[in-house]
Amino acid sequence: MTTVGILGGGQLARMLALAGAPLGLRFLVMDNVADACAGQFAPMVVGDYRDEAALAEFASRVDVATFDFENVPAESARWLASRIDVFPNPHALAIAQDRLAEKTRFRELDIPVPAFAAVDTLDGLRAAVESIGTPCILKTRRLGYDGKGQFRIRQASDVDDAWAALGAQASKVGLILEAFVNFERELSVVAVRGRDGQFRAWPLTENWHVDGVLSASLAPASVQPRMRDEAVDYARRLAESLDYVGVFALELFCRGDNLLANELAPRVHNSGHWTIEGSETSQFENHLRAVLGLPLGDTRMVGRACMLNWVGELPDARAVLHESGGHWHDYGKAPRAGRKVGHATVRADDDGALAETLVRVGAALNRSAQVEPVVARLTSR
Ligand code: ATP
Ligand code: MG
Ligand code: MG
Repeated sequence: MTTVGILGGGQLARMLALAGAPLGLRFLVMDNVADACAGQFAPMVVGDYRDEAALAEFASRVDVATFDFENVPAESARWLASRIDVFPNPHALAIAQDRLAEKTRFRELDIPVPAFAAVDTLDGLRAAVESIGTPCILKTRRLGYDGKGQFRIRQASDVDDAWAALGAQASKVGLILEAFVNFERELSVVAVRGRDGQFRAWPLTENWHVDGVLSASLAPASVQPRMRDEAVDYARRLAESLDYVGVFALELFCRGDNLLANELAPRVHNSGHWTIEGSETSQFENHLRAVLGLPLGDTRMVGRACMLNWVGELPDARAVLHESGGHWHDYGKAPRAGRKVGHATVRADDDGALAETLVRVGAALNRSAQVEPVVARLTSR
């Protein structure tokens, strides 16, 4: 019996555990809060990720470790990796945790990125805004998620407000200034690399964010084959350069014929949740196959899929379950503003049928605004 350890006990760990059950896997989750939602399906070690005693207990009870939470301290990941197999490797994790290291790596690999500069001081911020131009975004280098730790600078006079908002973070987690990309679309490549170097990507996904939080994903995104190949090639180059093992997502901005890389998520990703029902092998199953050294499953999809995120609170499941291609995921989390508490995936054989279903679901749940951009894309492509 193989036990997979997961650092972080949120919905990603929960969906990994659900995907691993048919493979006969056991799981052990470590989280610093006792009511983490993966704990409803897997035993837990509750403790701080820096606590050596808790890490030692975790390590003694698992065969291999992986992550649901990308901000597990890199030193803790290294400590674990000196005792047990850890995938992705701690070096890859450390690079993906730091927007500056990540963007520097993208650039080294000839993966286009928005202009960026490290920022340490207010004067440094002024100089960076001068050279990058406005609009631009000041972000924390580390520990940001769901658009937290970001300040949009529309004009040079916003610099003081940006520094008031984030300046205190400069000495703690570092800051980076990025050019604001007037993108037409956001895309992601969700891909997997096995222990033997085998690489597979799911069809590209188009994503819509609201207030920095993913709201909806559509797969496959309609992109020229050349752009698709380019995006997958970027993902492959990154995975190979990091000797990455497992599933990851590369987030991209698309403007005209150009792709610009935004960030690398070193784990299963929200924009890949549709793969549970929409593809031959889900991102969760393939992540487990990868970290265990098993053959990877096919990533081809069946028809079209749209994922809708439920943020704050869950709507009534019945409007989705009523649809022939409707699937519901309740993460078992207490409602709270801004918190991802569940998602739905709607699958259909073609764009027209998917659009019709989404319109019905949006109306029934009073979420027409959420489905509207997806429906507009489906009916115009
Ligand atoms: P995630 O939850 O995806 O990990 P995050 O907090 O790491 O989010 P980003 O992905 O960098 O943050 O930014 C969140 C969203 O904000 C992006 O998906 C995009 O919509 C917008 N955004 C971020 N950076 C830029 C940029 N340079 N230009 C334009 N929009 C941006
Ligand atoms: Mg991120
Ligand atoms: Mg992101």
